Amino acid sequence: MTTTPSHLFYQSRTPRPFLDRGEGIYLYDTTGKRYIDGTSGAMVSNIGHSNPNVLAKMKAQMDKATFGYRLHFRTEPSENLAAKTAAMMPEGLDRVFFVSGGSEAVESAIKLARQYAIVQGQESRWKVISRFPSYHGCTLGALDLTGYDPLARPFDPMMRGMPKVAAPVTYLDRDNLSEEERGLKYAEMLRDEIIAQGPETVLAFLMEPVGGASTGALVAPDSYYGRIREICDEFGILLIYDEVMTGAGRTGKFIAAEHWGITPDIVALSKGFGAGYAPLGATVAGARIVEPILDAGGFLHGFTYAGNPLACSAGLAVLEELEEQNLVSNAANMGDVLLSRLHGLMDRYPFIGHVRGKGLLTAFEFVSDRDTMDPLPTALNAHSRLVELAYERGLITYSRRTRGGTAGDHFLVAPPLIITEAQIDEMMAILTDSLDAFAREAGLDVESAA
Ligand code: PLP
Repeated sequence: MTTTPSHLFYQSRTPRPFLDRGEGIYLYDTTGKRYIDGTSGAMVSNIGHSNPNVLAKMKAQMDKATFGYRLHFRTEPSENLAAKTAAMMPEGLDRVFFVSGGSEAVESAIKLARQYAIVQGQESRWKVISRFPSYHGCTLGALDLTGYDPLARPFDPMMRGMPKVAAPVTYLDRDNLSEEERGLKYAEMLRDEIIAQGPETVLAFLMEPVGGASTGALVAPDSYYGRIREICDEFGILLIYDEVMTGAGRTGKFIAAEHWGITPDIVALSKGFGAGYAPLGATVAGARIVEPILDAGGFLHGFTYAGNPLACSAGLAVLEELEEQNLVSNAANMGDVLLSRLHGLMDRYPFIGHVRGKGLLTAFEFVSDRDTMDPLPTALNAHSRLVELAYERGLITYSRRTRGGTAGDHFLVAPPLIITEAQIDEMMAILTDSLDAFAREAGLDVESAA
């Protein structure tokens, strides 16, 4: 760890060791300490670290050209990555707009939606409804759609205040409904909100099909997804899936929408799409949306680094690795193993109140009481303490305060899609040791093995 003051700043002053190198699911700091990358960074490094095939393809591209501005040249990597992406997406999502990150992908999605409404002669449509809690990025447009108070509140006066509906947190509901009925109940909240806002003013609904940082791998009941699609169609509202975290195979399908047979109108991708080899993202839509915009003069939007050949060569190599190593089905299979191991933790730790997820996007949430699902006291600072205890023991996890960011603690477990069952067990051993340490420190009961 550096002892001299740093000129670099991020969100906070959390001191961290220097990274030396990555290899598969492991990262090493400069003292030689090894860490299991239990969350693929921030759900990014889907194919693991230092994949030699990807590095070789990037090097070959680097030797030719690292940058060619998109208004001056077409490039093979960007054309090939767009074609490959279209081929891997559900049918009809075949026009690809490159960006360099998730917030940019979301911003591009909503601006594309707006221009589509304009060319359709529907100028009155501009409101994008999203969910609370949710996370869609930190640029002001994406933040306005984000339902996570600690990050959004200071900037409220600078934003328009887009409408929100409740995310389908059915695991907290204490009613007599079935899960399917609860899913429909949450979907109807969208319909009510559209009517309250005035359907002619509503442009789009934006959702994470499986929740990310703000809800901790929240999965809605199956009934929710189809009903949301129907409601959007009923009012001519575009359905945008933010698959920045869930896309590129993370949940066991190329995009999570495929689990429910949904074709969104627009999809935002990033994170695992570049898998940490290059800053990369994409906004994907159908020709039905894109062509009329281009016919009417073009998409009034773009980023300088978009579609640069080096990032696209990395992205293309990443998608090739996903296919060649069957990583999407490995995510599905290893996701089942991981989820059952996490469920097993509930026997030992009464303070784990819920386990959820899809594929290799999984999470567990702490509670003080499983019946009421009340969170642990905030003073315990569980969300940061467990992460630190695991980090000390060589396991990287990712936590946030669930319930809108003010209370509750969830922990994401989302290793690279190359993980094996033996490596899941290695990860679980460190996690169990960390949970034991947390329980001791916080004075929480642990059930001893029968
Ligand atoms: N959307 C989702 C679902 C995310 O999880 C994130 C990042 O965590 C973003 C958007 C924003 O991506 P970025 O941080 O690359 O701008």
